[in-house]
Amino acid sequence: MFEQITARVMAVRDDIVTVQLLPDAEGQLYPIRKNEVVYICPARQGVDERPRYLQAEVLRVRQGEADVQVFENTRGVAIGDAVRQSGAMLSVTLGPGLLGQVYDGLQNPLEKIASQEGFFLPRGIQVPGLDTQQHWAFQPRVKVGAEVAAGDCLGDVQEGRFRHQIMVPFDLLGGARVSWIQEGSFTVTTPVVRLQTRAGKELEVTMQQDWPVRIPLSSPLLRSGSSERLYPQQPLLTSIRLIDTFFPVARGGSACIPGPFGAGKTVLQNLISRYSDVDIVVIVACGERAGEVVETITEFPNLPDPKGGSLMDRTVIICNTSSMPVAAREASIYTGITISEYYRQMGYNVLLIADSTSRWAQAMRETSGRLEEIPGEEAFPAYLDSAIRALYERAGVIQNNAGHKGSLTLIGTVSPAGGNFEEPVTQSTLRTVKTFLGLSAERAYKRAYPSVDPLISWSRYLDQMSDWYAKHMGTEWISQVKRMQQLLVAGESVQQMMQVTGEEGVTLDDYITYHRALCLDQVYLQQDAFDPVDVSTPLNRQKTVFTLLQRCLQGEQHFSDKDQVRQYYLKLTGLLKNLNYSREDSPDFNKYLQQIETLLQSEPVTPVSA
Ligand code: ADP
Ligand code: MG
Repeated sequence: MFEQITARVMAVRDDIVTVQLLPDAEGQLYPIRKNEVVYICPARQGVDERPRYLQAEVLRVRQGEADVQVFENTRGVAIGDAVRQSGAMLSVTLGPGLLGQVYDGLQNPLEKIASQEGFFLPRGIQVPGLDTQQHWAFQPRVKVGAEVAAGDCLGDVQEGRFRHQIMVPFDLLGGARVSWIQEGSFTVTTPVVRLQTRAGKELEVTMQQDWPVRIPLSSPLLRSGSSERLYPQQPLLTSIRLIDTFFPVARGGSACIPGPFGAGKTVLQNLISRYSDVDIVVIVACGERAGEVVETITEFPNLPDPKGGSLMDRTVIICNTSSMPVAAREASIYTGITISEYYRQMGYNVLLIADSTSRWAQAMRETSGRLEEIPGEEAFPAYLDSAIRALYERAGVIQNNAGHKGSLTLIGTVSPAGGNFEEPVTQSTLRTVKTFLGLSAERAYKRAYPSVDPLISWSRYLDQMSDWYAKHMGTEWISQVKRMQQLLVAGESVQQMMQVTGEEGVTLDDYITYHRALCLDQVYLQQDAFDPVDVSTPLNRQKTVFTLLQRCLQGEQHFSDKDQVRQYYLKLTGLLKNLNYSREDSPDFNKYLQQIETLLQSEPVTPVSA
């Protein structure tokens, strides 16, 4: 590391430290850049005499001085303490070995730290993000003499279930020619390829490379490669009925899940990450209470993957609890998204889950406050909106240099205080994302899980991906879905009426509408996360059940009185629920189908013409 001391501490205020730049041999002040990483070396060290550096990021540069944000507790930092510059922006190390890791927000592997340092996270510890001892069998995919550009595949290694591409450094400007390449088993720090750049320089390429987290990896400005952004064209299938049928998320799209404390955000996100039709999942556990995060990281490695193997084999967890310093929390989301972009660049479908973006925004607010910036709404910085937009815009579908499509879907939770969706973080997020899954405390209280409120939620993707739905679900699908949504709205208004007038105050037809909406909610929207069959409904089964439900819940039906209506729907709901719990085409499944058929014939429905 940069032996030179280039600045000294001149003021400390919580985790913001102002440093004064020192002159070099020629009397010029050492240059410093915004977002560069610097290290503060407190003169008073720990009891064990090991030199410890506190990592920090430059936030503001002025003439002769800079404000840096320290990613750790600044206890004991004093005026005059030495500052060393890294010359690099805050970066993550990308390469084989990321999958299965649990990192903190600065890509320190938590397990490794725990095994070396005992239970508590010590200050000033940085461990390489990738294991430098492990060997990977590198298989070249280009020959000496090949012309390559940033992001081109040079070769690959097998990382668990995945072919992991080793790509030309993403920051290479202009093209280069391969002058040497070797096959065999190497560590991530061993050169495997040498490139002769257009500028005439020789570049040694290892299996790992660094990328600054705050810059989108697919930024066309930095790439001479040919990757381009495409419009999302197919849904991310989650096997959660309410999402896939009513409020779909696109592969490469963005969604947010706001909800009050305890409404089920984390459980829903875990279900999505477990059952979604993606290759790789990156989970950023950002600033929630330590207990919940520990639950996620102890639970995940033990969960079987519905696709076979362990879930952890295709998962990366970035974890910052509320007890860790705020600055690292703010960075953690960018660390996660950069890792996601890296796998997308290889052509994989990646899902990034951020829980919760409110904590991330609060970290931004704290920092902004300490920098004494002019505050916006609720003391969030004025750039909150653009920061949220810039974050969600990193989702998307790209075509990589080899012509393969990769996607990055971003789903973030928002935890507004008191469940008030009017606050700035929820509002800014809603202006950015295209699917809104609003959780309601009332539904959670009634244990109607997933507690997504169908009356406030929406998805712009249903219409945007209409071609896909026409092809896979039939040309009528979207209008059928909308008709069922109208049933829910109609049912709700009858219910409100009944709260005032009682059952007697509504007509028989309204009463039927109410029970139909209730049935739709109970057997289709609600889904039991603890039942091995019901927990996951593949799309073709959703189509089967949805089609059946339309026959049951639409059209004219003649009942003699409300009692009969109640009895009928009670029975129907019970049968449909049992159907949900039975494996498709099992004897039970067919038995319940038969019974539903018999019931339908007992009170025949006259279908309305569309
Ligand atoms: P949040 O993250 O919104 O604070 P959680 O996701 O931790 O809330 O959920 C709180 C509790 O609600 C869970 O511990 C669980 O008991 C219950 N819960 C949430 N979602 C479900 C679900 N789909 N099925 C069953 N129980 C659920
Ligand atoms: Mg939670």
